[in-house]
Amino acid sequence: MIRDHFRVLTVDLSTGRGKIVSIDGRDRDAGGSGLAAALFNKYGHAEKPWDDPDQPLIFAIGPLTGYFPLMSKTVCAFKSPYHDQYAESHGGGRSALSLRFTDLDALVIMGKAERPCCLSVGSRHLGIKDLHFMWGMDVKASGKLLRRISSGSGHRSILRIGPAGETGSAMACINVDTYRHFGRLGGGSVMGSKNLKAIVIQGDGSCELPEGKEYPKLFQEVYRQLTDTEMMSKYHNLGTPVNVAVLNGIKALPCRNLQETSDPNIDGITGERFAADTLLRNTACSGCPVGCIHIGYVREQFMDENQYFYRQVSYDHEPIFATGSMLGVTNAFAVLGIIEEVEKVGLDVMSAGVALAWATEALEKGIISEKETIVPLKFGEAEVYEEAVRNLGFGSNDFYRLLAQGTLKAAEHYGGGEFACVLGQEMAGYATGEVFFTSQALGFRHSHLDTGGYSYDQKHEDKNVKEAVDFLVRDEQSRVFLTSMVSCLFARGVYTDELLAKCLRSVGYGTMAEDMEAVSRHIQKLRWQTRLATGFNPQQVHIPKRFTEVTTWKGQVDEGFLTSLKNEYAKRILELAKDEGKGG
Ligand code: SF4
Repeated sequence: MIRDHFRVLTVDLSTGRGKIVSIDGRDRDAGGSGLAAALFNKYGHAEKPWDDPDQPLIFAIGPLTGYFPLMSKTVCAFKSPYHDQYAESHGGGRSALSLRFTDLDALVIMGKAERPCCLSVGSRHLGIKDLHFMWGMDVKASGKLLRRISSGSGHRSILRIGPAGETGSAMACINVDTYRHFGRLGGGSVMGSKNLKAIVIQGDGSCELPEGKEYPKLFQEVYRQLTDTEMMSKYHNLGTPVNVAVLNGIKALPCRNLQETSDPNIDGITGERFAADTLLRNTACSGCPVGCIHIGYVREQFMDENQYFYRQVSYDHEPIFATGSMLGVTNAFAVLGIIEEVEKVGLDVMSAGVALAWATEALEKGIISEKETIVPLKFGEAEVYEEAVRNLGFGSNDFYRLLAQGTLKAAEHYGGGEFACVLGQEMAGYATGEVFFTSQALGFRHSHLDTGGYSYDQKHEDKNVKEAVDFLVRDEQSRVFLTSMVSCLFARGVYTDELLAKCLRSVGYGTMAEDMEAVSRHIQKLRWQTRLATGFNPQQVHIPKRFTEVTTWKGQVDEGFLTSLKNEYAKRILELAKDEGKGG
């Protein structure tokens, strides 16, 4: 529904009550990232810890959600258990469209339920169900039960956590509709701290479309562009795993805890291999004609005479790097087996894989022993990693409980910080060079998608600090507008500023369309101000030594260049947040 304000549902789990609130600022905060930061400023507490019951857990969609293809993501915002600072995590599935069909721009959850529960919201109802019997249940089993006990199949979105979220892991994700996640920075534990096992968004209302000929004509044009382009074939065909062989070929794939940047046995886990041997089907987030989600299978023999059952597991570049090349596992089925365990315990797969890669090297070097790791971690040993994932997810001993708070926290205690592959959080699957390392270490979400630093590295051999940092600042600003709409970032090549302005005008947000540059600058600033207010200091970011030992197609990483980039980007972030009035 088009409106000049935001329609937000706030729910207090302590009292079981909710209320619809109208919030001004539509033309200034837009939605998604902008709305989430504005809501955190209204309801959050910079000075209180992440697990204080008063802290909000926010889900926000954008002004184009439901109106155009690939406007299919939701921004989840919270104070993170990873660093106790303001954080955003993005997820898709049916979450965004379901919120649109409940006629909400955002859902804000505060308080703590007395017992484990499920929050159910729809266009005309709000309910809190006791789910104590589901506490401790893995993500798969709880998903099955939740689907059975919640009506509205096809329109509803089910968000849930696993044991990792229940035990306060800073790497716990929120699973969305089985194959998507609010993966990074520990949103799962924020749910766990509120005794919130699951959220069901019913999406049982309707959404009026703009009248006249302009909107359907534009929709068709956008749809054509999205489905005719190379983007469509890249993401639909092999999907993001197409990157595995490419990065391996240019020595930019993190392998064996980033001791190497290519693996001679990579053929076993390339996108091509996954497609040829394991692929069952593609699926998509609601409102997306691309369908980049690739579902493979793992099978298990349950009787002699070739009797098998199979389970479906989704894969992407990042899970393959984290549980494959980073752990020295180069068999596609073995990788799927590890991913499946990660899914069940409800961990963020990138964080889990990278943390276990560090633990493996630490064990090799004798910094820790099997007393800590419980199992004999060894690069390439897939079955051992499946067991280790369970230990990490359940927090089986002091070592795994500490590792689950972040690799650097474990390294502070045991040593080995110099080979911890942490860039703000456990690294993403790109060892492309100095610009990417700087971008992830200092980027707002510590995500490879905050900016295109990984692609800048692949296109530039020069070492121009100013140009590189100008790029990071500019690119972040354009992406922050997209994540306020809230678009899937895979569509960024199609949704140019010009096209976004047309889309906004066609649905009735003409004022925002006239002022996109100012809106995106405002949101960029507001996010950094919010982050800084909760304790982030970009000048104190440390990039571990391992990143200076990396050799890519450009040769060994230049430590001096890396330090200059880091210092300059930190300075620019502080400048971005500074201004006459909060939020600009
Ligand atoms: S391209 Fe993939 S991640 Fe993006 S909206 Fe479509 S299915 Fe979801």
